[in-house]
Amino acid sequence: STTTLSADEDNINVVVRVRPVNETERSHGEREILEFPGKGQVICPGTVTGQKHKVFSYNVVFEPAASQEDVLEYSGVKRLLEMAVEGFSCTAFCYGQTGSGKTHTLSGPPGLIESGASPYSSEHGLVVRSFVYLFQLIRDRPDCHFILKASFLEIYNEKVIDLLNPGTSRKPLQVRWSKESRSFYVENLFTVDCEELDDLFAVLEEGTRNRAVGAHAMNAHSSRSHTLLSVRVRRDVRSERDVTCSTHGKINFVDLAGSEITKRTHSTGKTLEEANNINRSLMVLGYCIAQLSDGKKRGHIPYRDSKLTKLLADSLAGNGVTLMIACIAPTRSNLNETVNTLRYAARAKKI
Ligand code: ADP
Ligand code: MG
Repeated sequence: STTTLSADEDNINVVVRVRPVNETERSHGEREILEFPGKGQVICPGTVTGQKHKVFSYNVVFEPAASQEDVLEYSGVKRLLEMAVEGFSCTAFCYGQTGSGKTHTLSGPPGLIESGASPYSSEHGLVVRSFVYLFQLIRDRPDCHFILKASFLEIYNEKVIDLLNPGTSRKPLQVRWSKESRSFYVENLFTVDCEELDDLFAVLEEGTRNRAVGAHAMNAHSSRSHTLLSVRVRRDVRSERDVTCSTHGKINFVDLAGSEITKRTHSTGKTLEEANNINRSLMVLGYCIAQLSDGKKRGHIPYRDSKLTKLLADSLAGNGVTLMIACIAPTRSNLNETVNTLRYAARAKKI
């Protein structure tokens, strides 16, 4: 069955997370230069070129002291999970420059997942916390039968790599259109049936390990690749007359390539194809979101122009809900990238 979203519900929610000043920055005498007057606002000081300070507004701003639990509670991701259970396609993605806290927000500090920490560790990011919440939602519906299937992939240079089954050659997989489900899918992608929280956790651990292996082989790999962890949620409800009704929802977690990559690829002598491809998914995603935010232009959204937007199309389009977490650093040396990220996020929010 198809579930539809009522017209007055926002389908893009934009929040900002500001990481704390780190040790390196502190040792260089840097400090926090952003201001948070409340009401979802961030104030950036004037830049070196003499521009006036700028005020940006979002649904929520997580200040540096915010905890991982705060992000679960107040980002709106719980609503996404509730909607995935109801049959919607939902996506939470982190956007921002390298080092701004995207991976920290989704997965926690470096090495935590690979260390096999308990799913209840307080350091865990949004993904593990969401898994815990998802299983809570499932337990709340003993009248339904649920089937969860998880996959984990990486998009690097517009090539799709299966993080659960990378193979020795890391051979890229094809993205195809399914007439039956009217959505894009990855051919031969490994999917894991997950009956318990530990099964989802094992998928995350395995994929994270495989990503680290790839990162070792290629310099600065993780700042250039996107990862997509998907959990499909099928729910069967037995009605009074013994008829079974099914809903098919999905939650995607996307850790995007560093947003600075657009300029940097031009300056490091990458081949034109690689530069173009690395930019493509990020640029097309920004373009799709901008179009979606501008209600008048619906119908002309270029999902087909990149691998990532093909795979996110069902959650970006009418029948889905998207959460964008814009990650920023608090110091002056990052100010230009911070302003770029805040602008990109503000464009997405204009609904
Ligand atoms: P990105 O994925 O955007 O490149 P990371 O998530 O790897 O950035 O963050 C860079 C470093 O800063 C990591 O060591 C990470 O643990 C740390 N960090 C990021 N955000 C926070 C935060 N909110 N609290 C504490 N440390 C953080
Ligand atoms: Mg990262």
